[in-house]
Amino acid sequence: MSGSTIKPWVVGNWKMNPVQSNAQQLIEEFKQLLQQNPILEEQCQIGVAPISIALQHVQQQLADANRSILTVAQDLSRFAGTGAYTGEVSAELLKDSSIEYVLVGHSERREILGDTTEVLKAKVQNALNAGLTVIYCVGESLEQREAGQAEQVVLQQICDITAVVKADDWRNIVIAYEPIWAIGTGKTASPEDAQMMHAKIREGLSQITALGASIAILYGGSVKPENAADLANCPDINGALVGGASLNAESFYKIAEAFANTK
Ligand code: PEP
Repeated sequence: MSGSTIKPWVVGNWKMNPVQSNAQQLIEEFKQLLQQNPILEEQCQIGVAPISIALQHVQQQLADANRSILTVAQDLSRFAGTGAYTGEVSAELLKDSSIEYVLVGHSERREILGDTTEVLKAKVQNALNAGLTVIYCVGESLEQREAGQAEQVVLQQICDITAVVKADDWRNIVIAYEPIWAIGTGKTASPEDAQMMHAKIREGLSQITALGASIAILYGGSVKPENAADLANCPDINGALVGGASLNAESFYKIAEAFANTK
């Protein structure tokens, strides 16, 4: 047991995958695995983040699972409400479609899709104002790690949003630490390195908010069934944000099981 009292979260980030028929099969297989060997809701929150046009369909398909599985949006607009913003989906429109969770600040959005700090602040603020829970992603590049700047970079990314998170809204924040060099590369941070960063994040959060000790901090970066238990054993790792391995029902199930059994 890790000794943590925070309920773990295991969230699959499907990114720009898969085609509809594969998504349906993936969900059916995952539901079957849960049916055969239940993972109780008290043991672990489980969620999946499909492409935006599939959100409602996935949510409907998950509705008859033997436990709740959260449907998570991968992104939202920096603009709030409704209006002339072609191609955008606001926090309010997600909420209107019964989507209650959203990823913000994934490194692919920061690095490839141009989400600046200002944009991310607006997204976090809009999401919280609409009553969504935000999974806010942070993480350093390999160059930053090698230059000894990892901790400073990650803590700054957390500080970036403090101005837009009201005291009570920290209840609706989950942090995902995802070292960029570990995402989709097969390289995982060692449990020791990940725990060290998570402990720093916990310390930083506790200086910012009285709720710091209760905020879930997930690890992301090549999490797979083979390394999930070791990560789950670390006291400040409260779950996983899983990319590649979440596209396979059995792998994703085993990761969730590892966190449910260890925490
Ligand atoms: C991610 O994209 O959030 C991620 C952690 O990907 P992977 O598990 O494939 O490294």
